[in-house]
Amino acid sequence: MDIFLTNTLGRKKSKFIPIKPGLVGIYTCGPTVYHFAHIGNLRSFVFADVLKRMFLFNDYKVNHVMNITDVGHLTSDADEGEDKLEKGAAREGKTVWEVADFYTKAFLADSDKIKIITPTTISKATDHIKEMINMIKEIEKNGYTYISEGNVYFDTSKLPDYGKLTGIKQNEDESRSRVEKDPHKKNQSDFVLWFTRHKHGNHAMIWDSPWGEGFPGWHIECSAMSAKYLGNKFDIHTGGADLAHIHHTNEIAQCEGAFNHDSVNYWLHSEFLVMGENKMSKSTGEFLMLQSLIDKGYSPIDFRYFLLGTHYRKKISFSFDALDSAKNAMEKLRNKILELRREEVSEEIDHIEESELEKIEEELDEESEYEFYIDQFREQINDDLNTPQALATLWEVVNDDELDPITKRELLEKFDEVLGLDIKSMREETIPTEIIILKKERDLARKNKDWKKSDELRDAILAKGYKVLDDKDKSEVRKI
Ligand SMILES: [Zn+2]
Repeated sequence: MDIFLTNTLGRKKSKFIPIKPGLVGIYTCGPTVYHFAHIGNLRSFVFADVLKRMFLFNDYKVNHVMNITDVGHLTSDADEGEDKLEKGAAREGKTVWEVADFYTKAFLADSDKIKIITPTTISKATDHIKEMINMIKEIEKNGYTYISEGNVYFDTSKLPDYGKLTGIKQNEDESRSRVEKDPHKKNQSDFVLWFTRHKHGNHAMIWDSPWGEGFPGWHIECSAMSAKYLGNKFDIHTGGADLAHIHHTNEIAQCEGAFNHDSVNYWLHSEFLVMGENKMSKSTGEFLMLQSLIDKGYSPIDFRYFLLGTHYRKKISFSFDALDSAKNAMEKLRNKILELRREEVSEEIDHIEESELEKIEEELDEESEYEFYIDQFREQINDDLNTPQALATLWEVVNDDELDPITKRELLEKFDEVLGLDIKSMREETIPTEIIILKKERDLARKNKDWKKSDELRDAILAKGYKVLDDKDKSEVRKI
């Protein structure tokens, strides 16, 4: 089945054609590790994860590369301000290396909690300075650079289609005109490939280079690392929408400067997460992290479910009411899965009495139902990752009374290969021995019609977080 994706470059949805059949190379702009990721950042990583899972669902092999920015990302995208890592180090009284290490681990722990499949390669910018220098040398050799006050700039006027990714003409660019004009630049859209110490006096991370001691500009790391791990022509580059305008525009310029051709076939961007009117952003002060949600009693998967409810190319409006709905939906799903697992056991017992022919007929029936739903789901996710519709299919299956419990559970687990809601681990929790003993004592009290004692024991069980469900002649305990 064909896959359709919306390419930011050209702004249209088109059929995905891989460079090599059955194989897809994806580069994701990773976190700048000077602080915890906020939930808006996490949206773009969940989006990249769903994209990758969609390819795996379609039997592609995926080579997924993500960088960790631990140097060169300044507080303004327009080459102004402090290095974000230096800022983090000053705030916490640590070295830049300690800050980078701490927040890299924190980011990977968050990714794990939210069921993001670890990329094939995670590459740190500071481990790739040599590759960046080599690429800048190529760009220089091809005549796209100039040096001003010791810094190496990319001359954007040399590329007639500079800015084609977002289609914003440089002279109409409001975000750049807000920034104080840099007298060292020939054109205001020019950007630094290599900073020497001239501009930022006490930078802690510096390396030798043909242009003097210094550090790389932010954009060069992604061009150098994507080329190293995916080649100078690869399938897909992802990132949050905030990266398209400057960072990705400059990545395109660098690759064209070094290789004399485009390096990326499909640019995919996920939209912002907003709270009220504002995009969530670390620079504006308060922001929510995954841990903030966990502290309020939500599971990371509740948040993942919330994200899947909106198409990645639309802004998503975060509120605790919306997160509550996601949490309730997850609770309902979990109860349903547990119920299916219980039903499966009685279903198997029923089947024992059926004839061989009946069994075969039933199996064929279930198989065609299974295929029907799989096709429907695949069509939705292959259509530019339509996760809201895919979730609707999940609920359609949950509510389909014609499906037998095994087929139903298998379908939901198959969908979950893309959705990542961790359905396989939704199992009845094992009841602790202490609770089992209390329940046995209570069963005995009931048998002896000692209702007072039976009630007391029920309350004791409840106080320990378990509830007793009484049926006519038997009872069971469940975790609350
Ligand atoms: Zn990047």
